[in-house]
Amino acid sequence: MNIASAWRHVVFFILIACATIARSETALPVTQIAPGNYAHRGHDEVATRENGGDIANVGFIVGTRCVAVIDTGGTLAEGRALRAAIRAVTTLPVCYVINTHMHPDHIFGNAAFKDDHPQFVGSTKLAQAEASRADNYMRALNRELGSAAAGSEIIMPTKTIDGTGTIDLGGRTVTLRTWKTAHTNNDLTVYDEKSGTLWTGDLLFVRCIPVVDGSVLGWLDDIARIRQMNPRHVVPGHGPLDPPWHQSLDAEERYLADLARDVRAAIKRGETIRQAVDNIGLDEKDKWLLFDNYHRRNVTAAYAELEWEQ
Ligand SMILES: [Zn+2]
Repeated sequence: MNIASAWRHVVFFILIACATIARSETALPVTQIAPGNYAHRGHDEVATRENGGDIANVGFIVGTRCVAVIDTGGTLAEGRALRAAIRAVTTLPVCYVINTHMHPDHIFGNAAFKDDHPQFVGSTKLAQAEASRADNYMRALNRELGSAAAGSEIIMPTKTIDGTGTIDLGGRTVTLRTWKTAHTNNDLTVYDEKSGTLWTGDLLFVRCIPVVDGSVLGWLDDIARIRQMNPRHVVPGHGPLDPPWHQSLDAEERYLADLARDVRAAIKRGETIRQAVDNIGLDEKDKWLLFDNYHRRNVTAAYAELEWEQ
């Protein structure tokens, strides 16, 4: 390699590096859905190379002292883009990074906030749930996203919540609450008292089919309690931001209640899990996005849960 050729290589790599930095600093689009509450709308899709794992709603709350991040997206790159969105709004430090539950689309951007030295916050059950799935989650992420997953890692909570707890962002108290096993066994909601904004994590799916990775009966109990909180604004884990939440919660409750009812009936009739999966809830297909990806899995989960109750 002569000197001119070597320089061309150097210039080429500098250009690539600049392009990478520029890309990583592109801010994730966010909407201020209530004063101080900024949310990003994820794609209503499963994670792919094309969407870069950006499929969950994520966001942040800004106080007078510091910022709390609520879920960080499906990759380090998305976490960095969320951080850039925060920097476009405020120079205040990020003091909390809250994970609403263990799923990859909500946690894999955590590493983007490492240098901010925040408290990483989650349910007391989050660390164990992440640890037992870490290898599978990493493998699936690399398989599904390829190079878009680069640098993504699981960062465990440093502050845990069991029941309720509050954090103070300066002039803004945020209440964190854990729930009976529902979407997962480590669901946590975030409630901004000042604006009455509830970040439900995946306890609420809007338009996208609810995914049962915990307990259908527990979820039905939690829905009744979420209704009692009567928030002014809601950020669901998936689907449109700040929807007419009564209707959205009703639709989710009806799907889960019908699922439990039909699975119980199938078990009573002596049907196998296979028969239940082939027959139950197929008329829901047109009501939900991602039905083909998750409905059968939900029937399987409900069957496993309800099989032994009689
Ligand atoms: Zn989830």
